[in-house]
Amino acid sequence: MRYNVDELREIAARAAVELDRAPAEKIVEWAADTFGERFCVTSSFADAVLSHVVSSVVPGVEVIFLDTGLHFAETLRVRDTVQKTLPVVVKSIKPRLSLAEQDAEFGPRLYAREPDECCAIRKVEPLNRALANYDAWAAGLRRDEGPTRANTPVVGFEAARGKVKVAPLAYWTEADVQAYIDKYDIPVNSLINQGYASVGCWPCTRRTAPGEDPRAGRWPMFDKTECGIHAA
Ligand code: SF4
Repeated sequence: MRYNVDELREIAARAAVELDRAPAEKIVEWAADTFGERFCVTSSFADAVLSHVVSSVVPGVEVIFLDTGLHFAETLRVRDTVQKTLPVVVKSIKPRLSLAEQDAEFGPRLYAREPDECCAIRKVEPLNRALANYDAWAAGLRRDEGPTRANTPVVGFEAARGKVKVAPLAYWTEADVQAYIDKYDIPVNSLINQGYASVGCWPCTRRTAPGEDPRAGRWPMFDKTECGIHAA
């Protein structure tokens, strides 16, 4: 069934109340029942927890990966493992500009000068393009990831995109994630065990100290903690 924007807004508002603190699987079940094939997952492949949770309820679900061309090899390995071992269809979405084309148009190392512009080209536009086929998407956002995510609802409405965003893991803690990984032997990006609390593109990711805000390891040279894909 296709919904218009007003209906999507209403559906999200109702579900945010009804599903607040519901188990992740229950939230996914609701999304699949409500949106059918117009529901997808996004993953940055720091781990495969969200892909596992969703595909255990919706086998064959499509998982969107923003293939910026600047990922660590470890991240691409998790993506490939997920595609091989879980019942999902991974869709790697590339930016319209190759890195060489971006360098030619904007100069080399745009990420070191204008990271917002670089993220807009390599992440935000590709995600918007990929989401055109869906009414709702699941993301792995958690409230305990830092101040910018502290109020993440389990179901929200993104006015700018006109989409419903589902965060089945919103209330999970780091300990919950670890317990799930241990229980189901979930693939994890090996960088996580090397001191990277949050993993993004290699030019914009550094290790974090124990106890440090996990998002502090992203864009460490800038006053920036989000790439823009969750800002709508
Ligand atoms: S995270 Fe860095 S390299 Fe990746 S798209 Fe954003 S600015 Fe560019």
